[in-house]
Amino acid sequence: MFNFHVAIIGGGVIGSAIARELSKYKINVIVIEMGSDVASGASKANSGVVHSGINSAEFSLKARFCVEGNKMFQHLADELNLPLKWIGKLVIAKNDEEINKLECLKNVGIKNGVKGLKIIGGTELKKQEPHISCVSGLWVPTAGITLPYQLTIILAENSIENGVKFLLEAKVKDLKKKNDYFLIETNKGNFQSDIVINASGLNCREIVSMIEEPDFNVYPCRGEYLVLDKNYSSLINSMIYPVPVVEHGFLGIHITPTIEGNLLLGPSSEYINNPNDKKTTKEKMNIIFSEAKEIIPIISKKAVINAYAGIRCKLSPPGLYKQVDYIVEESKKTPGLINLLGIESPGLTAAPAIAIEVSNIVSKSIELKQKNKFKSKSNKRKRFSEMSTEEQSALIKEDNSWGRIVCRCEHVTEAEVIKALSNPLEAKTFSSVKYRCRAGMGRCQGGFCTQHIVRIMEKNFNLDIKNIKLKSPDSKLFYGRVRVEKGD
Ligand SMILES: Cc1cc2nc3c(=O)[nH]c(=O)nc-3n(C[C@H](O)[C@H](O)[C@H](O)COP(=O)(O)OP(=O)(O)OC[C@H]3O[C@@H](n4cnc5c(N)ncnc54)[C@H](O)[C@@H]3O)c2cc1C
Repeated sequence: MFNFHVAIIGGGVIGSAIARELSKYKINVIVIEMGSDVASGASKANSGVVHSGINSAEFSLKARFCVEGNKMFQHLADELNLPLKWIGKLVIAKNDEEINKLECLKNVGIKNGVKGLKIIGGTELKKQEPHISCVSGLWVPTAGITLPYQLTIILAENSIENGVKFLLEAKVKDLKKKNDYFLIETNKGNFQSDIVINASGLNCREIVSMIEEPDFNVYPCRGEYLVLDKNYSSLINSMIYPVPVVEHGFLGIHITPTIEGNLLLGPSSEYINNPNDKKTTKEKMNIIFSEAKEIIPIISKKAVINAYAGIRCKLSPPGLYKQVDYIVEESKKTPGLINLLGIESPGLTAAPAIAIEVSNIVSKSIELKQKNKFKSKSNKRKRFSEMSTEEQSALIKEDNSWGRIVCRCEHVTEAEVIKALSNPLEAKTFSSVKYRCRAGMGRCQGGFCTQHIVRIMEKNFNLDIKNIKLKSPDSKLFYGRVRVEKGD
């Protein structure tokens, strides 16, 4: 049986950030993830906002980790070649009552240590956001956007470069504490570890209950989004948020530009019973669209190209209109079990700061000696579509698969799809390709490139068509061939 110093359950942004932080030290670390790739849960389906900290309650862990995490993002992006843009955020007021609420938000932000907040109006506001309908706005310059799934993938891949083991499609089925170690049972074998980090998002209660009686509940809360075509990106320059309504318990339907140039409308907020129910609904789509239209009156429904949903991991039940803080601590009943509970928004922003907190907790039980050769940088090649004609020609000369376009909407080449499928995590689903090189993420949403990617999976990676998955271990894309070609 394999022995590890630390086993992390969950390869979301939190588990992957912790893995990368711990990979700086001379210890054996494994990440056990039940999905077919990292970022299989909330870390893939969110707004991708690097929050400033104005929305988290004063003196809370949420506020502390958000503000600290926010400050760490630029360095992280520089080291890991992560797309990051500090486009700022505008919280808009539509009447006098809401203007007063902007003042309250500003004061909370100042107490949380958020810099540069100012209330703007009149011509300054109109010049900054000509298409927005409002009377005043709170300008938050320290808010940014990133690509959440790419952040998680880069953190995981850099951890692997530094010796961390990632095991995909491995579900933790049971956890037992033996004398001074844990026995972790998965569908991919059993492991021993001195410390277990429970970063399993919505399943955090299930993991705790394997070993002790949990004293908390998890309430899944779905957030649906609409994605607008890139042609509409010039409608706004920064993120636009309404004044949050406390009774609604979330930030409200906002409009967020993505790094790639799409606009996101949403998310909605709806408590659900089944944490895996990621469906999108006509009812919420209509609400999202009409609330977004109140903010930007000129948007039209024909701009919508896709919809998706992410599930929040809330510790607060429906109807409790106050924030419940994160729990990041070693279990009092089970020493060695470090729990991360209720890591809802701003978890993406908070991830680098939470990772340091967890590493400090680990250091109380295990001596953490720094590695001499920690590789902090990642070598990410530019996208083909971002290269100059000279750079493109040079690559095509070297290997003509750079000259074959697989995804017409996003201009992704065959070489980029092959590279995406050759990732160090060995993730080989359709989503793994999509999230690494954007094939299938454009206007036609895979209508054109799916067949070409299937061919590459078969030809270059010897994958049987019946084993090709969309995103999760049980999401088969095909059941067999309708017609067998000669030579197939
Ligand atoms: C709609 C929405 C919008 C958001 N917007 C933002 C935002 O703009 N900015 C921001 O900072 N934050 C945002 N967040 C919050 C952020 O997405 C989360 O806080 C963060 O992704 C949580 O990461 P995680 O790693 O804890 O959870 P997850 O990403 O859910 O990862 C947990 C992982 O554990 C795995 N797992 C579970 N059980 C097991 C098991 N038994 N065995 C093995 N693996 C297991 C799962 O497959 C999953 O991959 C948003 C969240 C939502 C839902």
